[in-house]
Amino acid sequence: MARLAVVTGGTRGIGAAISKGLMAAGRKVVATYGGNDEAAQAFSAETGIPAVKFDVSDFDACVEAVKRVEAEHGPVEILVNNAGITRDAMLRKQTREMWDAVIDTNLGSCFNMCKAVWDGMTGRKFGRIVNIGSINGQAGQLGQVNYAAAKSGIHGFTKALAQEGARAQVTVNAIAPGYVDTEMVRAVPADVLEKIVARIPRGRLGTADDIARGVVFLTADDADFITGSTLSINGGQHMY
Ligand code: NDP
Repeated sequence: MARLAVVTGGTRGIGAAISKGLMAAGRKVVATYGGNDEAAQAFSAETGIPAVKFDVSDFDACVEAVKRVEAEHGPVEILVNNAGITRDAMLRKQTREMWDAVIDTNLGSCFNMCKAVWDGMTGRKFGRIVNIGSINGQAGQLGQVNYAAAKSGIHGFTKALAQEGARAQVTVNAIAPGYVDTEMVRAVPADVLEKIVARIPRGRLGTADDIARGVVFLTADDADFITGSTLSINGGQHMY
């Protein structure tokens, strides 16, 4: 039986490529989203992948959604925590609401979703979790204290949970994408984007498929010796 993968924010952008990549790798996939019904419906019509709507920053909603998905499709064996938002502003202009929204959606969601699948994965002695971090969580980025803190938190969360899951053969890894050509990055002013691309040794933005390939690799059955790692996929922009 094909293993079931849940991809949060899996109907658009990088998440949509991850959903499709996992399906192409023989996984059964359920994609989740937060509010863009139109994009979700178009994605499901194109791919045949079901889309489930709930707010990943809401703990109870996550637990309830995972229960519904498992009742309909079977146990979640692969979880990709990809849903994320930005609310950029320099600290001086950043509000508490912007901070909370980004921390809750990007980092709180990892706690919520991992809690919802954890007992099942560890009990069955198999699981693959991939958390999508960011180059800006590794290197920092002005105007993004909230986002950089959330993404940096994801990298710490990943290493801690990997230690908890190792004996039960549940691997937990992170991917730190560089700048990827999606709506999130297209929202960056053109002159700023030009400067960013100039700093990427590979000389281009990443594609959503570049990130999806990393997820397929880390969630393979035989990737069981890779846990607690962060895979940087950034065209050489940040190496350490
Ligand atoms: P998009 O904005 O294109 O897509 C974000 C997805 O997350 C959407 O499906 C959206 O749902 C979902 N989402 C957002 N908030 C919530 C919420 N509260 N509850 C449920 N779902 C939610 O983002 P990208 O594809 O660009 O980014 C995907 C991930 O990759 C993010 O974690 C981002 O931080 C990370 N990343 C992106 C980079 C880039 O260059 N694009 C670089 C580094 C990291 P809906 O469609 O309903 O809005």
